[in-house]
This record gives sequence, C-alpha cells and structure tokens, in this order.
Amino acid sequence: MPLTKESARQLARLSEQDKVLDALQLELDKIPKAIAEIQARIEARKVRLTEIRGRANQVGLQKKDSESKMAAKEGEIKKHSQELNLVKTNDAFRALQTEIDKGKVEVGDLETEILTLMDQLDQLAKEEKAAAAEIKAEESEDLAEIQAFQKDKAALDAKFGAETQKRDGLKAGIEEDVLKHYDHLRKRKPGSPALAPILKNMCGGCRMTLPPQFVVEVVKAKAIQTCESCHRILYLPEAAGAVAPAPAEAKPAS
Ligand SMILES: [Zn+2]
Repeated sequence: MPLTKESARQLARLSEQDKVLDALQLELDKIPKAIAEIQARIEARKVRLTEIRGRANQVGLQKKDSESKMAAKEGEIKKHSQELNLVKTNDAFRALQTEIDKGKVEVGDLETEILTLMDQLDQLAKEEKAAAAEIKAEESEDLAEIQAFQKDKAALDAKFGAETQKRDGLKAGIEEDVLKHYDHLRKRKPGSPALAPILKNMCGGCRMTLPPQFVVEVVKAKAIQTCESCHRILYLPEAAGAVAPAPAEAKPAS
C-alpha cells in the first residue's frame, strides 16, 4: 500500500472534505430530533385536553349518580311522610319519623356532594377551554416550525449531495487500497478524522509520540503508516500541502 506524496496530498484534501460532510451530517442529524420534540409537544397538549375531557365525563357521571340517589331519597321521604298519617301507634310513628330525619340528612349530604361536583365541573370546563385555546394558539406555530425544519433539511440534503460529489472527485487521485483503508477507519469512528498529520514526531490526532523510525517511514512514503494508538493514517503536513507547520526533523529528505 504505497502512500505517495500526491496520494497523501489528495487524501488530506479528502479528509478536509469529509470534515465538511461530517459537519453537514451533524446538522442533518439534529433535525429529526428537533421535529420529534415539537411533535411530542403537540401530542402532549392533545393528551392533556383528552385527559381533562375524560375527567369531566367522570365527574358528570358521578353528579348524575348523586342526583338520582337524591331523587330516590326524596321519594322515600315523601312516601314516609304520607305514611305518617296512616300509622296507628306512637312507636310506628316515631320509627317513621326517624327514617324521615335520617333521609333528610342523607339528602343534605348528597346536595353538598352535588355542589362540590358542580364546582369541579366548572373548574374542568375552564381547564378544557384553556387547553383548547392553547392548542389553537400554538399548534399552527409548531407546525410552521416543523415545516421550517423540513425546509432546512431539504437544503442540507442538497448541499450534502453536492459536497458528496466533490468528495467523489477527490477520490480519483488516490490508490484504491489506500482509500479502502481510509474509508474503513472512518467507518469505525464516524465523525472522527481518519487522517492525522505528524507534528513534532507526535501523532496530530491523539498526541502520542511516534518512534523516529516510524517518522522516517512516513517520509519515505513507501507504505501507509498508521498511529499505533488511534490508528489514523499519518502524513506529513508539508507533503500534503502544508495543512499545519511541521517541525524540521519531520521534513522529508528530498
Ligand atoms: Zn494517534
């Protein structure tokens, strides 16, 4: 796997281009998450409205139940009141009167309960109105925001396509096996540069000191040399078109 100077130069250009693509990809990756957050917000508001309506329904049913219990109780009281005129003994009269008094207390309790439930229904009606108003006020804004993100995505996709074409052009001057190795490294660590310049006998990627013989090998440019620590392909910055200043000892002999 020879890494000629021309090849190294082209590889450095490719690596720069991949930085552009990585940055675009990072922007693209943010969009689905942002859209999902907005959609969750929209959904949460709808769920809240449904919950309020469900609670109002339940309270309404409770109120109906208490009302029918009260009506039944009032019916009993009325019946007992009529029976008062028919009883023959004092004991029977007192027993009926006790029943009537007990019934009246129960009716009073049911009335209080119904009033409480009516208060709850009022409160829930207000909450429902507020929740519905919130949906009306914010949903169109949220949907517009989603559309804006989708527009951004379309623009980024187009840019990504154009930059990918540029990348394809840069691949032309690089040997296939070098390229394979480079792509393999990039696939292993997406978003991280697969290429590192040698800076003062150090790997420019991970800062590990490289053995002098190693640097000599890179200078000879006979084969690809990778950093033992981070596995990036090493190159001499000045050989690749001076991406960064190189120390004297790392300069090629020729
Ligand atoms: Zn390294």
